[in-house]
Amino acid sequence: MPSDSVLRLVWIYPDLLSTYGDQGNVLVLEQRARRRGIPVETVHVRSADPVPESGDIYLIGGGEDRPQILAAQRLRRDGGLHRAIARGAAMLAVCAGYQIMGSVFGGEEGQPVDGIGLLDIASGRGAGRAVGELVAETDPALGVPTLTGFENHMGVTRLGPGVRPLSRTVVGTGNGDGTEGCYAGKVVGTYLHGPALARNPGLADLLLTWATGAQPAPIDDVWFERLRQERLAATLPRA
Ligand code: GLN
Repeated sequence: MPSDSVLRLVWIYPDLLSTYGDQGNVLVLEQRARRRGIPVETVHVRSADPVPESGDIYLIGGGEDRPQILAAQRLRRDGGLHRAIARGAAMLAVCAGYQIMGSVFGGEEGQPVDGIGLLDIASGRGAGRAVGELVAETDPALGVPTLTGFENHMGVTRLGPGVRPLSRTVVGTGNGDGTEGCYAGKVVGTYLHGPALARNPGLADLLLTWATGAQPAPIDDVWFERLRQERLAATLPRA
């Protein structure tokens, strides 16, 4: 992204996949970019509309099984997201949106449903629902502090060789195999629910770094950090 240009955020299908306050991730990215003097333009793409290819960061959220299936069908038919990611755009995909990025995920009866194949992952149904606080140690290569958040999903996700785990689960279920989320290129997927970036500003800054090609300047994160420490203290087993 040229230094004088606007950062373009694209929020995909808020009418289908925004069940858990997912707009929070859009707001956090907007604010953290603006606080660094980066102008931002956000496009909300409803599921009847084409996905623009010229975005810098794409966001897709969580949702229930049927809207998730519909979103996968529409994204596959549309093709705009594939072209944007092939062009080098960054992306945050959360929960249902994360599962959609893979080759397959579990539908409302557990039946396999085709994903859109942007990440080398395959999801299905787990034995039970994973609900609760989640803490996970981030891949050190990413330079993002320990992740904290909330999860609420039935799905379990197997990672293929084309992706790396985003983190190792300390508390919670994540992918279901001791890892949580994944990344490949500039695409991150996670089970951390809803406004995960409000609890993990380091992840927001990773997306901004990828999108702008430069590490954003440090900003005062005292309130974010207090929340993170409070959640860690409340969630981690006592020594
Ligand atoms: N329907 C998916 C599951 O249960 C995703 C749920 C969600 O986005 N919270 O695994």
